[in-house]
Amino acid sequence: MNILKIDHLGIAVNSIDERKNFWTDVLGLSFAGAETVQEQKVTTAFFPVGGSEVELLESTSPDGPVAKYIEKRGEGIQHVAFRVENIDAALEELKAKGIQLIDQKPRIGAGGAKIAFLHPKATGGILVELCQRDS
Ligand code: ZN
Repeated sequence: MNILKIDHLGIAVNSIDERKNFWTDVLGLSFAGAETVQEQKVTTAFFPVGGSEVELLESTSPDGPVAKYIEKRGEGIQHVAFRVENIDAALEELKAKGIQLIDQKPRIGAGGAKIAFLHPKATGGILVELCQRDS
C-alpha cells in the first residue's frame, strides 16, 4: 500500500472547549473548525499542523467510542491516521496479510474522507486509521 503521510492524530478529550486553548493559545495552532459525525457519536475539532492535523475528539454520547476510550484509559492520543492513496486496495492488502480489521469496508468520516480502522490487537495496541481524501 502507498501511505502518503500522517493525516492526523486523534486525541480524546472530555471537552473541546476546555482543551482547545492549549493547542491555540499555548502552541499557536489555528482552530480550523469542528464537525459532528453523528454515526460515530463524536465531535471533531481540527488544528492543522503543516500538512497534517491534530483532531480533538469529544463524544456526543456516554456510549460513544470516544467516551468509552476515556473511561478505560483517560484523555489522550486515541488513534493515529495514515493517509493512503487507495483505501480499498489497502484494506484488501491487509486482509490478504491476515491483519484484523475493525472496518472491513471504508466508511465516511469527518470532512467526507473514506476511513477504516485496524484492530489494535493487530498493531501492538495502537488504534490505526487509514484515510483517503480526494482533495
Ligand atoms: Zn481519525
